[in-house]
Amino acid sequence: MTNPQKRHIAILGSTGSIGTQAIDVIRAHPDAFEVEVLVANTNADLLIEQAALVRPNVVVICNEDRYDQVFAALDPLGIKVYAGAKAVASVVQMDSIDIVLTAMVGYAGLLPTIKAIEAGKHIALANKETLVVAGELITRLAQEKGVSILPVDSEHSAIFQCLAGEFHNPIEKIILTASGGPFRGKSRDFLKTVTKAQALKHPNWTMGAKITIDSATLMNKGLEVIEAKWLFGLEPAQIEVVVHPQSIIHSMVQFRDGSIKAQMGLPDMRLPIQYALAYPNRLTSDFPRFDFLNYPSLTFEQADRETFRNLQLAFDALERGGNVPCIVNAANEVAVAAFLHDEIGFLEISEIIEEGMQKVSYVAHPTYEDYVRTDEETRRIATARIKSLV
Ligand code: NDP
Repeated sequence: MTNPQKRHIAILGSTGSIGTQAIDVIRAHPDAFEVEVLVANTNADLLIEQAALVRPNVVVICNEDRYDQVFAALDPLGIKVYAGAKAVASVVQMDSIDIVLTAMVGYAGLLPTIKAIEAGKHIALANKETLVVAGELITRLAQEKGVSILPVDSEHSAIFQCLAGEFHNPIEKIILTASGGPFRGKSRDFLKTVTKAQALKHPNWTMGAKITIDSATLMNKGLEVIEAKWLFGLEPAQIEVVVHPQSIIHSMVQFRDGSIKAQMGLPDMRLPIQYALAYPNRLTSDFPRFDFLNYPSLTFEQADRETFRNLQLAFDALERGGNVPCIVNAANEVAVAAFLHDEIGFLEISEIIEEGMQKVSYVAHPTYEDYVRTDEETRRIATARIKSLV
């Protein structure tokens, strides 16, 4: 029997960086939240451990080879176990779920997010790739179904928090802050030879491998620019990026009277996760507090779109619209995976994305099927290019 006083949460990607932090937040607030569903890809051991702790109704392991292991461990606890991507798309529609936290990585988040919205579930959105790929479709569907898309990304959560009480006031522009990543200030010559070990060392945040590489190339900021357009209904000219190496100001909104509101705090993803799950309430927390005296200097720099081509490519995709952001996302996913497998160099990531943008056919108003075709075509082209480089 579910308790109506609590919010019942499905966590897609529970074994990842966002997923594990979401479980910490939920466990700290047993009166506010209950876990209904946990979904992981391959990490069966951690999924079993998490399920034994939070006792969801259902778990899904996407990798079907791990089903037997998960079933053997969780069936005796009365937890239903399913496997495969189709099962994810179906369990997100369960009546007992209030909010779906999309914390899986990449394009795989798109279909379950669509299914969850179709079933009227509110979305706590960490999986930015979903809005990058299909922002128009997702926002239209969410409006039709009266569903909220609550941002988890710290920058978008910051903007969302700055907009509390301001929804009747038009936004003049938003300023997304970027740490600059581990290669801030470096030249293209330097970037030619950087290794994945160097790229995986983010100065301020500990995150999954894909987003950490995206932060090093500044593609993460590019994806966030596109995500912001859809979340807040902005024109490209209203979105600015500024490098702020301390990652204390998480982003800002400027209103038409010139006033700027900023949201600040130590870099800690538990805060935006908790804000999204509890919105519009703020729950107590014991997260470490920010002290101005420890940060006598907060600094700001222009983002270098020439050295970090990916940021420029994302802005280009935003201007061109249609299926171009979907192309950028697919090419980037393939290229980042190849970089993580030591198959290509750091600068080749942008080359692979540019080639996809040139070669894949343009669709001005894509349907879901167009997105699927675009994703497949782009992955084919990107994979062929990588083979030619290896
Ligand atoms: P991780 O790589 O740490 O975790 C990814 C999670 O998704 C894991 O649980 C993984 O399962 C699961 N997963 C991966 N592929 C699939 C798939 N095909 N189907 C189902 N589940 C899958 O990623 P992060 O937590 O860092 O990032 C998750 C999302 O949140 C990304 O979109 C990222 O951009 C976004 N985000 C992350 C932030 C962060 O601080 N980490 C900040 C802002 C946004 P398994 O462990 O079994 O492989």
